[in-house]
Amino acid sequence: MRKKRIKPDITEIREYQTKTSGLFFVVDGILFRKQSEFQLIEVVENRDYGKILFLDGLVQTTERDEYFYHEMLVHPAFGAHPGPKDVLIIGGGDGGTLREVLRHPVERAVLVEIDPDVIEAAKKYFEWLGPALDDNRAELIVADGIRFAADTDRTFDLVFVDSSEPIGPSSVLHTPEFYLSLRERLNPDGIISSQIGSPFFHAAAIDREHRFLRDIFRIVRLYTGPVPTYPGGTWSYVFLSDTRAPLPALHPPPAGLKYFNPAVHEACFRLNDTEEVKS
Ligand code: SAM
Repeated sequence: MRKKRIKPDITEIREYQTKTSGLFFVVDGILFRKQSEFQLIEVVENRDYGKILFLDGLVQTTERDEYFYHEMLVHPAFGAHPGPKDVLIIGGGDGGTLREVLRHPVERAVLVEIDPDVIEAAKKYFEWLGPALDDNRAELIVADGIRFAADTDRTFDLVFVDSSEPIGPSSVLHTPEFYLSLRERLNPDGIISSQIGSPFFHAAAIDREHRFLRDIFRIVRLYTGPVPTYPGGTWSYVFLSDTRAPLPALHPPPAGLKYFNPAVHEACFRLNDTEEVKS
């Protein structure tokens, strides 16, 4: 007898980037769906992108294209730092940023994720990310990133802010208060890299964030890279430091990356608008 296929109760998920355009994903199967204390977590299967993590209906990571985002968030900062040993990741409970950090000879990678259900879903369904969460150099802390940054006395060489959109629990991670606390957590020569949104759809929000960041850090450099399943298909990041500039890179990225390379490192910071570095 033919095995009855369980038809998902949702046949597609639409992510509206504006009221009049967006992306849609036909759902071949629902692997996980839970309203956690913080957000609706869904892991679904789609023929084009494989497994996809949605938080509150917004694409966070897909099996097919996650490397664009994680490589771009992590490796520029490593290329600009003389020898990072202690790394902090705020958010990133899916494990992708942690996987990229652990490609480098760091001693400790602390990941601070507010929602334990995201970590559990990643361990169970994202086998290409999950192993990083079990690496013995990784330290997972379930906490609000803004609270952790304000309360801890630990310091770090590199910090990565792998937040979701500035709504819900992530909204506090896009504030001056958060970055003022983070700056206090940096060792000398420390660098912060954050995802900062779509340069196509979120230009006003990026401009606002860029303005207050320039009041906090001496070096503030925006950079961009492709992410097919993010709004507009291009994403922007920000490189923050008081002493280190992203160019020229001090060393090349590790082998085995799928997208990032020394030419991309050079090109991704070359934006049309002039980038100030306070003298
Ligand atoms: N790494 C993903 C990707 O591939 O693009 C994108 C973002 S990741 C899923 C965002 C994470 O930040 C989520 O797991 C969310 O629970 C977490 N998060 C949101 N607000 C937070 C906060 N205030 N403190 C710590 N983690 C937070």
